[in-house]
Amino acid sequence: MIDLSYTKRLAAGIGFDLCGLAPCRHLPDAEARFREWIGKGYHSSLEYLERNTEKRFDPCKLVDGARTAVICAVGYKNRVSDGYPDGHRTKVASYACAEDYHAVMRRMLRQLFEGLREASPEVRGRAFVDTAPLAEKLLAVEAGLGWIGRQSLLVTPQFGSYVVLGELILTEEADRYDKPFEGSRCGECRACVENCPAGAVMPGRGIDTARCISCHTVERKPDTEIGLDGWIFGCDACQSCCPWNRRAPQHRNRAFDPVFDPLTMDAAAWYGMDEAQFDERCGRTPLTRSGLERIRSHIGAPCNGSGDREDSGEKSR
Ligand code: SF4
Ligand code: SF4
Repeated sequence: MIDLSYTKRLAAGIGFDLCGLAPCRHLPDAEARFREWIGKGYHSSLEYLERNTEKRFDPCKLVDGARTAVICAVGYKNRVSDGYPDGHRTKVASYACAEDYHAVMRRMLRQLFEGLREASPEVRGRAFVDTAPLAEKLLAVEAGLGWIGRQSLLVTPQFGSYVVLGELILTEEADRYDKPFEGSRCGECRACVENCPAGAVMPGRGIDTARCISCHTVERKPDTEIGLDGWIFGCDACQSCCPWNRRAPQHRNRAFDPVFDPLTMDAAAWYGMDEAQFDERCGRTPLTRSGLERIRSHIGAPCNGSGDREDSGEKSR
């Protein structure tokens, strides 16, 4: 049996800002919405999203005997999370200025798992940080951490959407579970819809990835041509404008301290770097997934991405 209070104390001690427990169950409504979104082609070049949909919305299909999802979050807001000065043409998403969160979160989840197994040696399970098809944002809602904003990201009352998530899917039941987060606290706000430079946040709720700058600069590039609005890796525009992020505190976990400062870097700095210097400066960050050459190719890309769109479909990302 997993003890909810003990798990939360353990998680806090390891450096997680939020931790919630949810029973593992199938989420049929979310699966139906996701299938509709895929059917409309809004996943564009993210073809991996077409696979394993049945597992994505049912942790029991991912881990045999799954009973409990432990959802952990760490706030990563840093000095570039509130946005860049006008005219900055080499913008990097704030999460990418720190050590790759996959590595950090995996270390922390391993510690949490070991701590739980010390208390309950019978516990089995797996840790996930974007490594498997798992609807982690929906599990976070189930575990009471927050709601899904119009930009399709998890928004937490305490840390806004500037959080990274990691999960343990465990085979034991918990003595208690958190209550799912009820409703949305977006209210009448539409800031993320209005501030997306590419018109990728759809009026209903969700993202058209073919138009999303983050997808264009980080993932396999969709065929649609869009302006990048000065972003060379990722994009924070639908987050820096969010009132919940404006009031969120700076990150507390030192593992999320930025290792370089993109505010001090312009196009000349990026062009002046050789591979060894890039590796030295950014080698521990997610930027290495793109590489210096691809990042440079985004510098000077057109900035006139059209915000016009006519459809009003709804999807989840
Ligand atoms: S990441 Fe950027 S382009 Fe993508 S939806 Fe958000 S604001 Fe729009
Ligand atoms: S910017 Fe506004 S609408 Fe978008 S997620 Fe934040 S609160 Fe919700």
